[in-house]
Amino acid sequence: MGNLRALVSVLGFTGSIGANTLDVIARHPDRFEVYALAAHSSVDAMLAQCLAFAPRYAVMMDEAAATQLRQRLPADAVTEVKQGDSGLAEVVTAPQVDVVMAAIVGAAGLPSTLAAARAGKTLLLANKESLVMGGHLLMQAVRESGARLLPIDSEHNAIFQCMPVDEHGIPVGRGVDKVLLTASGGPFRRWSLEQMFAATPDQACAHPNWAMGRKISVDSASLMNKGLEFIEACWIFDLAPERVDIVVHPQSIIHSMVQYLDGSVLAQMGNPDMRTAIAYGLGWPERLVSGVAPLDLVAAARLDFEAPDESRFPCLRLARESVAAGGTAMVVCNAANEVAVAAFLDQQIRFTEIPIVIERTLEQMDNVEPISLSVIESADGQSRQVAAGLLVDMQRSAGKAKQV
Ligand code: NAD
Ligand code: MG
Repeated sequence: MGNLRALVSVLGFTGSIGANTLDVIARHPDRFEVYALAAHSSVDAMLAQCLAFAPRYAVMMDEAAATQLRQRLPADAVTEVKQGDSGLAEVVTAPQVDVVMAAIVGAAGLPSTLAAARAGKTLLLANKESLVMGGHLLMQAVRESGARLLPIDSEHNAIFQCMPVDEHGIPVGRGVDKVLLTASGGPFRRWSLEQMFAATPDQACAHPNWAMGRKISVDSASLMNKGLEFIEACWIFDLAPERVDIVVHPQSIIHSMVQYLDGSVLAQMGNPDMRTAIAYGLGWPERLVSGVAPLDLVAAARLDFEAPDESRFPCLRLARESVAAGGTAMVVCNAANEVAVAAFLDQQIRFTEIPIVIERTLEQMDNVEPISLSVIESADGQSRQVAAGLLVDMQRSAGKAKQV
């Protein structure tokens, strides 16, 4: 008798999405088997989960971490250790693999996400940056290989749940007027620009509703996360930018909505816990137990809505302008944002300087057609260099200002 369980590769399993994915998988040992776990460099976490899930492969991006893991795994362990990009590619494209959870953070996730799409896998897409950078390539790969793309980002998962689908389960815009993408507004929703100038990394990462990795938490505070999700929605649901509206909804109970031509608006609601979206992706089209507590609407009591403020949150404007510019502008915007967010987390720049780095990088970079992965990677690399140069200039002038 063949193996009836779906074989899953979890990329970025040590992160917030990765941990939630393993939590859901552990609730359904009859349905899922972990084929591979991949992470950057945390040997302790890898060791613990290799013992818990007995995956066939463990991939460490870092060479020293891979060596250490090989030494520390028990001699009778069933898990084989692989390393680096080639190891990652193997556990994504192996014929036995049914499902790939793409939960690496940032541009680093693009090659493996694209490889999963090209190999025709069921792709659970959390790594939004890969769609932002290579949306055209990724969606083309999905169409050509017959891969199934199931969005894990909570908003897109919500939209997917509220969208009509064709007989193959592919979302179709039939009868749809608009998509209403909700945003919590993040921890600085009511902060002035002066307050945001003085914001610390911990304050930016203290999201009022969601527990997430630090990069996406800063993106949520600057609203760049919503900018990235805006383009993500356009690609996944094949929508022109003017058909996606952003609505601030501070309680994060509605995870997004679809507005139909007849005036109906369908919303997907639930507690802000990523396991709902992950379970929906893993089980689709069935519903699985996820461990998420039932929504208590009486306790929640109210749902508020307001328009986003692009003057206090210029990252949203920059993302919109990059979408309108097309070409590699979103690649540049994403790369400059990653550099700026890392510098902010490292306390090299102020929170309010993040959009300045992005805007200046966009001004300095050429816009070309993102026709291949190498063009995208080259635009990404060049943008990072430009952004890093800007950081040096900014620190120099900040140093001079201090001396005066
Ligand atoms: P995280 O920082 O908690 O985890 C990131 C993971 O990526 C870790 O396992 C790390 O080992 C791995 N990683 C980092 N650099 C890598 C590299 N160069 N090569 C291979 N692996 C690498 O991040 P997260 O919050 O779980 O977010 C993961 C992705 O999911 C992001 O793209 C984020 O935007 C998206 N997402 C997250 C949430 C959330 O609730 N956390 C919600 C929606 C979407
Ligand atoms: Mg989201």
